[in-house]
Amino acid sequence: MGVLTPNHPEDLDVPDATFAAPDLTTFCRLDELGLVAVGQRIEPARAVIACRVVEPDDWCHRCGQRGLLRDTVVRRLAHEPLGWRPTVLEVIVRRYRGADCRHVWRQDTSRAAEPNARLSRRGLRWALEGIVVQHLTVARIAEGLDVSWNTANAAVLAEGRRVLINDPQRFDGVTTIGVDEHVWRHTRRGDKYVTVIST
Ligand SMILES: [Zn+2]
Repeated sequence: MGVLTPNHPEDLDVPDATFAAPDLTTFCRLDELGLVAVGQRIEPARAVIACRVVEPDDWCHRCGQRGLLRDTVVRRLAHEPLGWRPTVLEVIVRRYRGADCRHVWRQDTSRAAEPNARLSRRGLRWALEGIVVQHLTVARIAEGLDVSWNTANAAVLAEGRRVLINDPQRFDGVTTIGVDEHVWRHTRRGDKYVTVIST
């Protein structure tokens, strides 16, 4: 029985200068969201990435003093699925308290997501492109994001409006986006949906 022994020089295993070191933060485009990845948990049906907010944001906006770290809270965001596997961000958000003014605030996460949003900005963009460019159904978008149909639908409509208001030229000639999902036919495996984008 022969054993295959690689005999090429070791430096062939080192990538050339066009490669950077593997980095979950940039691979998942978390840097665009003002986040840095600090952990990963791969579950059978989804990947969870623990992140923290890059900007410390520890100065009191009322009195200008530096705040004391009080505790942290976790903000969960549905991110763009990678390899069709839902990707969830668990963002660790610091809460501070002013030493004198007692004002309490938390790190600003508005680069990562709209206030109170369930989807990251990348997750939202993936959903909108899925609907408009790839013609995915809202049901498929919801599955990809691991959120409910209603959450996906509301997020896509809100983001469509926001994008069109901010940049009417983005979709060349499209002046309105409407997502209208009808039950097309009932089958034994469930309902088939048709998504209509009106432009
Ligand atoms: Zn203060």
